[in-house]
Amino acid sequence: MTTHAPQAAASVTLPASLDEAVAALAATPAAVPVAGGTDLMTSVNAGQLRPTALVGLGRVREIRGWQYLDGHALLGAGLTHARMGRPDFAALIPALAAAARAAGPPQIRNAGTLGGNIATAAPSGDTLPVLAALEATLVVASPGGGRREVSVSHLLAGMDMLRGGELIGWVRVPLLHAPQIFLKATGRTGPGRATASVALVVDPARREVRCAIGAIAPMPLRPLEAERWAASLIDWDGERGLPQEALTAFGTYVATACVPDPEVPADGGEPPKLAPAVLHLRRTVAALARRALGRALS
Ligand SMILES: Cc1cc2nc3c(=O)[nH]c(=O)nc-3n(C[C@H](O)[C@H](O)[C@H](O)COP(=O)(O)OP(=O)(O)OC[C@H]3O[C@@H](n4cnc5c(N)ncnc54)[C@H](O)[C@@H]3O)c2cc1C
Repeated sequence: MTTHAPQAAASVTLPASLDEAVAALAATPAAVPVAGGTDLMTSVNAGQLRPTALVGLGRVREIRGWQYLDGHALLGAGLTHARMGRPDFAALIPALAAAARAAGPPQIRNAGTLGGNIATAAPSGDTLPVLAALEATLVVASPGGGRREVSVSHLLAGMDMLRGGELIGWVRVPLLHAPQIFLKATGRTGPGRATASVALVVDPARREVRCAIGAIAPMPLRPLEAERWAASLIDWDGERGLPQEALTAFGTYVATACVPDPEVPADGGEPPKLAPAVLHLRRTVAALARRALGRALS
């Protein structure tokens, strides 16, 4: 990706390991890490960011693949969307592969990474609802060689932020061997940012349905009551299908939780009506949630 920024970064460091990258950030506190550059360089080109130094993560091989650990996959933050979209990865974490395949046009998927998607934390970040529904955690590399775990949901909610000089090293995702779905609605034909998305996991081991709605709020929303209601309807020891009416009711439950009705005024008068665009968003969320649960149980 090229930049038309009038001022190029004064220094660019290309470390070969994660700890070297963290050390480079510690040595130059103003330095900004860059992975695929698809978000960062967009901000630079738009004149919103003028980094004086960059720490490139492209040569850090240890974060470009994945490994298995105690029923979990440790996914390197440097995994590109294109790599996650391939069949071997899709067999492992199907919903994350589906989200990666939906993330922008091919040139963006070839460069853009999982770690960059998380660190940018854009509401429309396609991997974010999947990581929320899977209850994934981050393994963060800290200065001095330290490692600490941060829940993705806590990071996105601002409850546990990355500290100065820290980098996302890996994403710990449970291997569920259970149905998991990602669906996305966009405002245009072809690749586009999500106007709403849903990630849904049916987890027989914990007898849970977990659902996260993306793009409609600053962070993915978990409609916990609707999740529990759907789980209570499922015959976990028998056929797991649900009738169409239950799927439709689930969609409505999720959509009303995530796009709520306006509050009743204090004087007890008529509550204001939802604007047509908001009503459309609510219908979109309902349709996505209904389809996701139907597909997961089919
Ligand atoms: C045309 C276009 C279309 C797009 N479409 C989509 C889409 O449909 N869906 C979607 O989800 N995204 C989309 N994106 C956004 C972008 O491609 C993704 O968010 C991508 O995953 C970012 O990854 P990156 O490696 O390019 O991040 P970078 O641009 O390199 O970095 C982004 C931010 O993350 C930080 N960072 C990077 N790696 C780490 C790390 N390991 N630890 C800590 N901080 C780190 C950087 O400092 C920077 O602040 C689109 C972007 C463009 C330009």
